[in-house]
Amino acid sequence: MSDIDAPEVFVWQNIEEQARALFALYGFNEIRTPILERTQVFTRSIGDDTDIVQKEMYTFEDRGGRSLTMRPEGTAGVVRYLAGKGQDAGDARLFYIGPMFRSERPQAGRKRQFHQCGVEMVSPPSPLVDAECIALQLHLLKEWGLDGCVLKINTRGEAHESRQIADELCARLMPNREDLCADCQRRIDENILRVLDCKNPECGAIVDAMPPLTEFMSADSRAYFDKVVALLNELGLRPKITPRLVRGLDYYNNTVWEIAHPALGAQDALAGGGRYSIQMGKKPLEGVGFAMGLERVIMALNAVDALVETLSESVLLWFVSMGAKALDANFILEQELRNRGVACGMDMTGRSMKAQMRAANRANARFVVICGDDEVAKRVLLLKDMGSGEQCEIDKETLIERILQEKG
Ligand code: AMP
Repeated sequence: MSDIDAPEVFVWQNIEEQARALFALYGFNEIRTPILERTQVFTRSIGDDTDIVQKEMYTFEDRGGRSLTMRPEGTAGVVRYLAGKGQDAGDARLFYIGPMFRSERPQAGRKRQFHQCGVEMVSPPSPLVDAECIALQLHLLKEWGLDGCVLKINTRGEAHESRQIADELCARLMPNREDLCADCQRRIDENILRVLDCKNPECGAIVDAMPPLTEFMSADSRAYFDKVVALLNELGLRPKITPRLVRGLDYYNNTVWEIAHPALGAQDALAGGGRYSIQMGKKPLEGVGFAMGLERVIMALNAVDALVETLSESVLLWFVSMGAKALDANFILEQELRNRGVACGMDMTGRSMKAQMRAANRANARFVVICGDDEVAKRVLLLKDMGSGEQCEIDKETLIERILQEKG
């Protein structure tokens, strides 16, 4: 888990601001769900046999004996919220930006607290909505300045076909069971689709020799997928059909996808998404969504030299005070200027003039006001322009006028 401080935090502020602006363009509202949820919110939706639920959740009991979990992903909480709305969930379009928690082995690009920016679009199955969701995601990556992303896409078929697809897969994998890795031998019984994306080369060779998943699906499922791919091609988004892509979460059906960036190396997944049907209330909620890992986005932006580390507005004015009366007078004036929107600062510890001027430089101040007890008695101030080095005596009202003009 990391602290995010300046100047890196300016990058975060920028990408979050750009994301909010783009989401507004597509008609999305923000949703902020709690970080803690009842554990069943995740186990029921993500699936008991997934890596997240089996190994990665931070789960504990509260004082009332309820099992709570720190959210490992965003979809389950949003769906829990929407299920509570019932009919009113309608065709909600929501986005979220925030921290997620997974107890994984830390490595480059993998953290225990990381941040995701994601969306959920409530909609019955529709190739148009799936394509729109993917287009929005790629639009956002472009907006952030990240070119060269690779969109890998596949389908898991309609929800009601999952049993039949699993049976077909099982029939083909059983003869090779002994040659699969130990994890995949277990997956055959527990979560057979995950055999497809196993990283082990021997499992990969067995899977590659099998027909693609689409062979086991209905003509409707295949037509749905073809339509999504055709729409994406028409938008110029060049989807790469990837038959072994299934994604790790149980709630997906139909379209699933991942976006990778070559600059990321081994952990090249920037983002994932898919269509889902999740039963949390009376009826299953159908929708499509994506989640992007912001640490990875920033790593990729860094690797392609596209980071925008805009500094937050630097301080316009710094007050230097020599003597107790000057300190009080500066303190009052500083607050008066801040009330009028001027960014200013001062040292309150009564340090030497030299130390205070150093602080003004560190704050990158454009002007410095110097005030000693003499100036207080004469009701004037010394104004120094730090750019030109010019200095002049000025009364308080003129100073305020000048500074407000400079602020623009
Ligand atoms: P997932 O919810 O597993 O599909 O993850 C979506 C995206 O979140 C991934 O593509 C990564 O970019 C990011 N992500 C997932 N887990 C982590 C992690 N432990 N640390 C950093 N980023 C992560």
